[in-house]
Amino acid sequence: MLPVLRQLGEQATQDHLPSALLLSGPRHLGKRQLAEQLRQILLCQNPKVLNACGECKSCLLSQGGAHPDSLTVEPEEAGKPIKIDQIRRLSEFVYARPQIAQRRVLIINPAEEMNLNAANALLKTLEEPAATTYLILLSHRPASLLPTIRSRCAQFPVGSPGAAVVREWLSQLQSGTAREAGLPGFEKAWQVSFGAPLRVLEYLGEEGNHSAYDEIIGEWESYLSGKADLFSIADLWSNRDTDELLTTLIAEIHQRATRDEGTGQNVIGSYQRLMEIARNHREKRNLNPSLQWEHWLMKSRESR
Ligand SMILES: [Zn+2]
Repeated sequence: MLPVLRQLGEQATQDHLPSALLLSGPRHLGKRQLAEQLRQILLCQNPKVLNACGECKSCLLSQGGAHPDSLTVEPEEAGKPIKIDQIRRLSEFVYARPQIAQRRVLIINPAEEMNLNAANALLKTLEEPAATTYLILLSHRPASLLPTIRSRCAQFPVGSPGAAVVREWLSQLQSGTAREAGLPGFEKAWQVSFGAPLRVLEYLGEEGNHSAYDEIIGEWESYLSGKADLFSIADLWSNRDTDELLTTLIAEIHQRATRDEGTGQNVIGSYQRLMEIARNHREKRNLNPSLQWEHWLMKSRESR
C-alpha cells in the first residue's frame, strides 16, 4: 500500500481527515485511483482498517459509479477548462446533507484546469467548509493553482511507489503467461516511465504488448531513416495525444542520453525543443501542431 494512502486512510478511519485535501504529483502516478480508494473508505458504512468493506449499500453504489453522496468535477471536454457553473453545482452539493453515507466526498480533477472564475468560486466554498463534506483536489501542477486555494488545503504530495511495488501490482494485473514469463520488458518500461505505475502499464499493455511508446518511437525512427516522409509523421503526430507524445519522446531522449555519451549538444537541443512544445501546450497557445512537429522532427534529423 502506498504510504500516502496509509496515512490518509488512518486519518479517515480516526475521523481526523482535513476537510480539503490536495493530492499532487506527476501524471500517471495513479492519483485518481488513490482518491477513489479514499472516497470509498469515507463513504463505506462499515469500513475496515484502511479499507472499504466492499459489501455495504454505499460500497455497492460506489462501485457502480452512482453514489448520491459522491461527485467528480472534471473538464466537460478534454483540453477545456473547468467552468464556474460546474463549481456552483459543486458548492450546492457541499452544503446538502448526505443521503446514504455519513459524509459526502467530492473530487476535482485536475484542479489546475479551473478557470479563474471557477477557482474564485471554489475559494468561497473552501472558506466555509461543511462539517460532513470532504473535498479532494488532484493536481499535476500544484504551483499553477491559486496560492489561496493551496493554503486552504492539506497538501499530500504523491510519489512513485518504487519498482518492487509496481512490479508486484502489475503481476497481479497481467495474464498468466506474461506473469509466468516474469513480466518481459518490465526493466525498459520502468526506465522510460519515470516511476509512474500507469505509464509502466501503458507501455507494457494489459497483455504485455508494447503499446503506444514503441509505436511513437517507431514512427520517429522511420522518419530518421528516410522510410517515412516528414509531413506524414508530423500529420500523424498532430492527431496523437500531445502529453503522451511529449512524455514518450522525453523519456526516449533521456534513455539515449544515458546510453551513449558524446551526443551531448544534439540531445540537449532536441530536449529543449520538446520543453518549448510542452510549454506552449501547457499555456494553450494556439500553435499549428503539425507545423510544430515538422520543425521538431526536422531538427532531430539535422542534429544527428
Ligand atoms: Zn462498505
